[in-house]
Amino acid sequence: MSVYRPIRAHVDLAALRHNHAVARRHAGNARIWSVVKADAYGHGLLRVAQALNPVTDGFALVELEGAIALRRAGVEKPILMLEGCYAAAELPVFAEYRLTPVLHRLDQVGWIEAAGLAPQLPVYLKLNTGMNRLGLDVAEFRLAVERLRQSGVADVTLMTHFSDADEARGVAEQMARLQAMRGGLAYPLCLANSAALLRFPEAVGDWVRPGIMLYGSSPFPERTAAALDLAPVMTLESEVIAVRDLQPGDRVGYGGSFTASSAMRIGVVACGYGDGYPRHAPSGTPVLVAGRRSHTLGRVSMDKLCVDLSDLPQAGAGAPVVMWGRGLPADEVAACAGTISYELFCALAQRVPVLEEDLGQG
Ligand SMILES: *Cc1c(COP(=O)(O)O)cnc(C)c1O
Repeated sequence: MSVYRPIRAHVDLAALRHNHAVARRHAGNARIWSVVKADAYGHGLLRVAQALNPVTDGFALVELEGAIALRRAGVEKPILMLEGCYAAAELPVFAEYRLTPVLHRLDQVGWIEAAGLAPQLPVYLKLNTGMNRLGLDVAEFRLAVERLRQSGVADVTLMTHFSDADEARGVAEQMARLQAMRGGLAYPLCLANSAALLRFPEAVGDWVRPGIMLYGSSPFPERTAAALDLAPVMTLESEVIAVRDLQPGDRVGYGGSFTASSAMRIGVVACGYGDGYPRHAPSGTPVLVAGRRSHTLGRVSMDKLCVDLSDLPQAGAGAPVVMWGRGLPADEVAACAGTISYELFCALAQRVPVLEEDLGQG
C-alpha cells in the first residue's frame, strides 16, 4: 500500500493473541466468545478473526453482514449474534450461515416457531437481571423456555450482561437475580464481559464474552492494562509535519484555547478528529514524540493537532508521534478526553491506513 500522509495505525496480532491467552487463563474451563462487533473494536473484523480463529472458541458480534463475511472467509467456529435478529426475515440467513441468535424478546421466539427452524438452531436466551437494556423478565423467560421446548429447540444457553462489573457495585445482585430466575433449569450460562472475567471468578460460567481486554485495554479506571498483563494491539502513529517557535502571548489553533506564557517550541502533527483522534482531548493530553512523553496544545482540528516540543530540541519535522498504543496506553488518552478506549478504537477513521504486524513470540 502506498502511504502518503504519515498517519497509520499498527495492529499487532501477536499482542492480540497474547491478550486472548490472558483471557483463556482467567476463563479456566469456560469457552471464549471473542467479541468482534464494531469491526473488532476498530481493529478490522477479518484480520482479528483470522488471527484468533486457531485459538478462540467462537466469535460474537451484532452485524449480520460481518457474520456472513466471517463465514465467507472460512471461519467455521460458532458465531453468536449479540442482538439477535431484528426481523423474522433474517432467520433463514441465520440458519444458512449457522449463526446463533440471542433471543431477548418473546416475539423473537415466535419467529423461530414460525420459521420451523427450531431443531437445528442453537439459541441464547438473554435475561434482564438489572441492566434494563435487553433481556426477558421472569415471566417472559418461563414462557420462552416452554415454547422453545415445545417447538423442539435442543440447544439453549442462558445469557445476561452485567452493568457494573467494572464498578463498586460488582455483579452479586445480578448473579442472585439470575440464579432466582433460572431456578432448577440446568442450561449452560454465558455471563462475563472482560471486567467480570478479570474480576469475578464466580461469574465465569460456561462461556465468557471478552471484548476490550483482547484489544489490550483495561476495563477498570483504576487498574492499568499493564497491571492486567494486557498488551496494546492498536498503535496510532503519525509525524510532526511542521515546527514553530512561539513568543509569550502567542495563541495556538482554533479559538486560541492555548496561549504561550513563555517562549516555546511546538510541533504540528498530522492527526486530527478526521482520523479518529478525540476532539474533546484538552491541552495536556499525553503523546509520545520520538519516544518521549509530551502533550497536546490547543484545540484538535480535523487533520492536525499541536504538541509541545520545548523539552525535545532534537524533535523536528518528521519526528514520529504516537497518539496511543505502544508506550502510551489508550486508556490514559481516553481518560484525558473524558471517554474510554473503546470509543477511541471504534472511532479510528477509514482514511487511516492499517498496517498489520506480528511482532511477538507468536
Ligand atoms: C460488547 C459486549 C461484550 C464485551 O464487553 P467488553 O467490556 O468489551 O469485554 C460482552 N457482552 C455483550 C453482550 C456485549 O455487547
